[in-house]
Amino acid sequence: MVFSRMAREVQSSATIKISTKVKLMRAKGIDIIGFGMGEPDFTTPDNIRNAGIKAINDGMTKYTPTSGTMELKEAICEKLKNENKLEYSPDQIMTSCGAKQSVCNVILALCDKGDEVIIPSPYWVSYSEQVVMAGAKPVLVHADDSTDFKVSPDDIKKAINNNTKLLVLNSPCNPTGTVYSPAELKEIVSCAIDNGIYVISDEIYENIVYDGTKAVSPASFGPEFMDKVITVNGFSKSFAMTGWRLGYAAGRGDIIREAIKLQDHFTSSTSSITQVAGVEALKGPQDFIKVMVAEFDKRRQFITQKLNSLDGISCVIPKGAFYVFPKISGLFGRKIDGEMVHDSESLVNTLIDKANIAFVHGKSFGSDDHVRISYATSMENIVEGMKRLENVLAK
Ligand code: PMP
Ligand code: GLU
Repeated sequence: MVFSRMAREVQSSATIKISTKVKLMRAKGIDIIGFGMGEPDFTTPDNIRNAGIKAINDGMTKYTPTSGTMELKEAICEKLKNENKLEYSPDQIMTSCGAKQSVCNVILALCDKGDEVIIPSPYWVSYSEQVVMAGAKPVLVHADDSTDFKVSPDDIKKAINNNTKLLVLNSPCNPTGTVYSPAELKEIVSCAIDNGIYVISDEIYENIVYDGTKAVSPASFGPEFMDKVITVNGFSKSFAMTGWRLGYAAGRGDIIREAIKLQDHFTSSTSSITQVAGVEALKGPQDFIKVMVAEFDKRRQFITQKLNSLDGISCVIPKGAFYVFPKISGLFGRKIDGEMVHDSESLVNTLIDKANIAFVHGKSFGSDDHVRISYATSMENIVEGMKRLENVLAK
């Protein structure tokens, strides 16, 4: 066998695959509208960009400790205390090249062959693959439109057995936009910690919430929660800093230390320049977030209304993140512009080929009855993309 177990078992990332395809088509001059990548279309705010430029000019160009500079870790502790009611010290913080790496380090630090990791589904594509990298088994617990894609504590209890090591939660959720209430979260997380199971709480979309919804950090529910919950967050979404690569994990000192040890051998720290910009992001003005979220909200309202007006499509109105996850199984068995649609992937391919719009098929997120549409693109693109969708469905 040429390739390792890991290489053979891990699936490629559907989100990255689609967005790469869109970029290639655009480079060829094709007028494609991409709804694939979950990436704010906003530019990183000026003050943060300038902090990065200054860091270069000041010669902040050397390795930093793997877990990040003390200044950044202290700024993260301040943020977690003020915004999330979480008391951590800098030695309980690990910064990484994106929240993606933070999640991966923690999974690799906790999970082995034979362990099971519960992932409420629909779920972000990388969780399951990172669990597979660890040699552990992803156990998907499904929820659908009927519960706004929320799993119940009972669903979680049923999935727990002696091999269960970890539960991965993501509220607000990619791809569904679902936000659990504090009471719901407390019940679900309690099922895990009462059984000695660790929890990763990926809170990267915490600021992107609508209709007065508030995201909470389950680690703040009490000392027993602090002991088992590892909080992950990042700068990509809240500060439109996807390309800078900065995320972090906060948790019990021993868990974070082991995760840092692994990162020592992967990437060392993230970029020294990015870390300076990250401090500015946390300590500088925060009004950018409100402006961005208000714009996302307009798009959310438009896109859900439009999708729900189309025959064969229905869409839960999400309370967070910048995705909609419409049910498209009503289109199965129909021909769209001569192409038979029989699953989410054939629909996505047909829409790329016939309408020049790119969604991501739901299969990779755990539901073949849905597609994911990211509305982190301009209103102009959304209006045009929805027009193209409506027109092609009529063919
Ligand atoms: N978690 C979720 C749920 C995401 O959607 C993403 C996508 N970017 C990440 C983590 C990772 O983000 P980053 O690595 O850019 O911080
Ligand atoms: N998280 C974003 C998404 O889901 C970026 C791509 C990725 O890392 O998966 O589209």
